[in-house]
Amino acid sequence: MFKSWKIGRIAGIDLYLHSTFLLLLAFTALSGLAYHDPLSQLLNLGLPLMLFTIVVLHELGHALAARHYGVGTREITLYPIGGVARLQAARFTAEQEMVVSAAGPAVNFALAGAAWLLAPSLAVTPLAAFLLSQFLVYNLGLGLFNLVPAFPMDGGRILRAFLSRRYGHARATLTAAGWGQKFAWVFGILGLLTASFNLVFLGIFVWLAAAAEVSQLGRRW
Ligand SMILES: [Zn+2]
Repeated sequence: MFKSWKIGRIAGIDLYLHSTFLLLLAFTALSGLAYHDPLSQLLNLGLPLMLFTIVVLHELGHALAARHYGVGTREITLYPIGGVARLQAARFTAEQEMVVSAAGPAVNFALAGAAWLLAPSLAVTPLAAFLLSQFLVYNLGLGLFNLVPAFPMDGGRILRAFLSRRYGHARATLTAAGWGQKFAWVFGILGLLTASFNLVFLGIFVWLAAAAEVSQLGRRW
């Protein structure tokens, strides 16, 4: 029922769009009906497109860092709540996991920095200034949000890598997953309070993904 469609290939990695993404597009199209001028309607479609291009670049950051260590990426899939780069099964050292996990947010901070540096020469019209400011805010937001230590989000993976140097892989995973599930509750409750269903779905995703990582421990160790 929930299949993914291949929409392209970038740096030798297949890019997929998950079918639940259509819900987001439908929601965006519906909310566009509220706007009557063509520019607002165009921005209503263009801004999510910009955001998801940024998400793809973020995932590419992870994929290319993993490739640096000889680990390929099976595919990158875009979900309404963000992207997932599925790496080939590999065991990274703690240092490698830190670099691979930090590479995604690092791409965002680099893009935000570039937008800030280029703003004086690129923001020549109010629209260009608006788009550039959105680009900067999206990158900064995505970079910072992914650093929340909610395993298996990037920040949580960095936390696990940090802990595993001291406590070993299994115990570090258990601790990081415990934090991940606490944050999952926070996301879920915040999402319900603010009627932000993406946040609720993210909470459910993080909770399940943290549980899956813990259950894999039994098989690996
Ligand atoms: Zn990431």
